[in-house]
Amino acid sequence: MTHVAENINVLVGQIPTKIKIVAVSKFKPAKMLLEAYDMGLKRFGENYVQELVDKYQELPKDIEWHFIGHLQTNKVKYIAPFVHLIHSVDSFKLLVEINKQAKKNERIIDCLIQIYIAEEDSKTGFEESEFFEMLQNGSINDLTNIKICGLMGMSTFTENLEQIRKEFKLLKTISDKAKSFNQKNIELKEISMGMSGDWQSAIEEGSTMIRIGSAIFGNRN
Ligand SMILES: *Cc1c(COP(=O)(O)O)cnc(C)c1O
Repeated sequence: MTHVAENINVLVGQIPTKIKIVAVSKFKPAKMLLEAYDMGLKRFGENYVQELVDKYQELPKDIEWHFIGHLQTNKVKYIAPFVHLIHSVDSFKLLVEINKQAKKNERIIDCLIQIYIAEEDSKTGFEESEFFEMLQNGSINDLTNIKICGLMGMSTFTENLEQIRKEFKLLKTISDKAKSFNQKNIELKEISMGMSGDWQSAIEEGSTMIRIGSAIFGNRN
């Protein structure tokens, strides 16, 4: 058995089946993704547009491709024909562009709103207040080719699991509060939080979707 297959066996045995695993495959060769695919994983997460497009073209067509990195508006068009879920929507301007490109492709693109929950300047996302302002002002209503399916968050890069847990709790609280805004194109059912080092806490705090890279594919150089 390959390392990837062994890692997946161990991981899948520990994770409740209702939790969706996104295998984060950035910088990893297509061959390794195929090993994961052969173990039954069909959801892959990528951070870079060109890498995602290349892998999409090379790999089996029943893979769900998730975009999880910072997305520039001028690159949305390249992934719009096939992307399954964009986790990392960090501005209204980006939502407008995703909607435009989705319309061109005659489809609806599922999105998560990335919320800034960390205590670090380098992480992106909506501030909680900005997010609620956007919900309240109704500007999303006109974007009929997107669907907001939930929220995504990245915790602070720290060993301090208490801090991380606090941030996950915050994201869950924001999601619960925002559920009163559910409407045609907003239905908050997913919470994308938790990575290789902290997925257990994330699940305990209400995650529905974990993004696992190194625990499956090994460390990235
Ligand atoms: C790279 C990455 C991950 C996976 O991180 P690991 O610690 O390797 O599991 C998850 N989410 C995002 C947004 C990433 O960029």
